[in-house]
Amino acid sequence: SMNDKERFADMIRKSKRIVAFTGAGISTESGIPDFRSAGGLFDRLSGRHFTGEETLSIGFLETYPELFFRNYAAHFDFSQALPNAGHRFFADLEQTGKEVTVVTQNIDNLHQSAGSSAIIELHGNGTRWRTFDTAEPADATAVRMDAEGIHRDPQGRKVRPDIVLYGEMLNEEAMERAAAAIGAADMLVVIGTSLAVYPAASFIHYFKGPYAVLLNRTPVPQSLTFQLAVQTDAGAFLAEVWQEFFEK
Ligand code: NAD
Repeated sequence: SMNDKERFADMIRKSKRIVAFTGAGISTESGIPDFRSAGGLFDRLSGRHFTGEETLSIGFLETYPELFFRNYAAHFDFSQALPNAGHRFFADLEQTGKEVTVVTQNIDNLHQSAGSSAIIELHGNGTRWRTFDTAEPADATAVRMDAEGIHRDPQGRKVRPDIVLYGEMLNEEAMERAAAAIGAADMLVVIGTSLAVYPAASFIHYFKGPYAVLLNRTPVPQSLTFQLAVQTDAGAFLAEVWQEFFEK
């Protein structure tokens, strides 16, 4: 019988349209902690006066901007992180002629750095900034903070990272594109997500294709029927699959 890697490679070969649905777990092998694992961000931020979720909410940003940005700078500066074999797998897979879409909950820009060309960002991207009120793009490199923790761009506009905080709506267009890509896919690979953050986690239910795969380090509630579920470190698993079955 085929082992997990063979089965995974076989499903890829039989699929034309592939969607990778990724969460924080695909980036832990790049040195970025996830939220819910032991030692993850929720552990580090909570136990103070606020829970991790509160410190990442729009209400917290508006009420305690100084504290919000202190946390943000300490825990969400991913500018030194590099993509790992998990991110690279889906960028490289495009080169084999497959139609690959990445739907990510991450804000770390690592799928982009790896070279994937079709990326739907459900929660925005921390490398971009935008104005508070009108959501116009702002130059992230020119943002300055005042004594109250208010960040402004050179034109004096109040700006913030272009990410979706707790208490905020997801971008309509991103949601529509994610639903369409997942609904049209032959293969869905769900990677490194506790499937606990909504509405993002609900998008996998648009999938109607034959091959749903789960790659996660720990067990997660399987709200979708997976043809293959592998408890593994995604980067290591995908590196081996690439080497054994796709590398020329
Ligand atoms: P989560 O922390 O709730 O869950 C991560 C899951 O990934 C866990 O089940 C964990 O066991 C698993 N995991 C950890 N390392 C793994 C690995 N190497 N291979 C396979 N599985 C691994 O993350 P979430 O579901 O994405 O929800 C948290 C929210 O916060 C999301 O919106 C997320 O994108 C955001 N967040 C983003 C980043 C980032 O951009 N890198 C980091 C932390 C949190």
